[in-house]
Amino acid sequence: MSEIRNVIIIGSGPAGYTAAVYTARAGLNPLVFAGSVTAGGALMNTTEVENFPGFPEGIMGPDLMDNMQKQAERFGAELVFDDVTAVDLTGDIKQVTDSAGTVHRAHTVIVATGSAYKELGLPDEKRLSGKGVSWCATCDGFFFKDTDIVVVGGGDTAMEEALFLTRFGKTVTVVHRRDELRASKVMQERAFANPKISFVWDSEVVGIEGETQVTAVKLRNVKTGEETLKPAGALFVAIGHLPRTELFAGVLDLDDEGYIKVDAPTTRTSVPAVYACGDVVDHTYRQAITAAGTGCSAALDAERHLSQLA
Ligand code: FAD
Repeated sequence: MSEIRNVIIIGSGPAGYTAAVYTARAGLNPLVFAGSVTAGGALMNTTEVENFPGFPEGIMGPDLMDNMQKQAERFGAELVFDDVTAVDLTGDIKQVTDSAGTVHRAHTVIVATGSAYKELGLPDEKRLSGKGVSWCATCDGFFFKDTDIVVVGGGDTAMEEALFLTRFGKTVTVVHRRDELRASKVMQERAFANPKISFVWDSEVVGIEGETQVTAVKLRNVKTGEETLKPAGALFVAIGHLPRTELFAGVLDLDDEGYIKVDAPTTRTSVPAVYACGDVVDHTYRQAITAAGTGCSAALDAERHLSQLA
């Protein structure tokens, strides 16, 4: 039988590493499952991060995550670059299984598995990610001043992104595959009223052009099949998110969209001594700093629980 740890953290994005820094500094010797291929989380896929406080000149996403990893390790966090494949969180002793089938035990578990942006699935999407293709207007809008911007999607998030992007873009074109939006009435009205926003209906983005930077997107009308090339310097994909909660279905209470429910403002989940933080609970903000903030809260929640056991 493995030793019983104080805390196991699942995830190594800003939420997981911040929870690791705090629990390690509290002397709790956390075991962190960093993930096998996506260790470091979403920011490993980006270039410049300009809105994480403390870096006046900005910092490259992978460098920021490397710093967080080193900071957690410096205080004694133990990192394992492996995926958790199963959990049993029901009893007082929580069990977490790794990819080799080894069971790790702990008094508390912090879930920080993040959420994935839905992709269009186009061949050039990944290649041009950070070079004009983005999933986050708050993160990247600033880079596209006076640019013709295309936003794909028809829900509230797409309208929010489009409206925010009008602060920077020369034009903002929303491409939607239907002839009406899914977004709430109020968001629709705001978008329709904004003179910078125009709409291309019944259309899908079927291609992205550009060598080192996006230069155009290829659109196809789903009714006529006609294809057109629309010059654009940026493409924002706003077709939804997928919280990484497959492991927790039937284990923790999830909301209708699959995010873990927490007893806000705490990070307590529906199961005692299990805490969740970062984008896996967050519909709204989805920023590195907010993920780090709730990672800190989860660590403090776990620490308080452990101090009551002592
Ligand atoms: P993530 O960073 O997604 O980390 C999740 C972690 O969980 C990963 O380490 C993964 O390996 C791990 N994991 C998942 N499942 C398992 C498992 N079964 N076992 C073990 N580990 C597991 N935000 C900003 O504030 N500024 C920006 O400029 C910015 N730019 C962005 C650019 C891009 C391209 C993207 C995709 C996002 C950007 N964001 C930015 C958003 C930001 O990256 C996220 O809000 C933040 O990373 C969320 O942190 P997190 O720790 O909750 O999750």
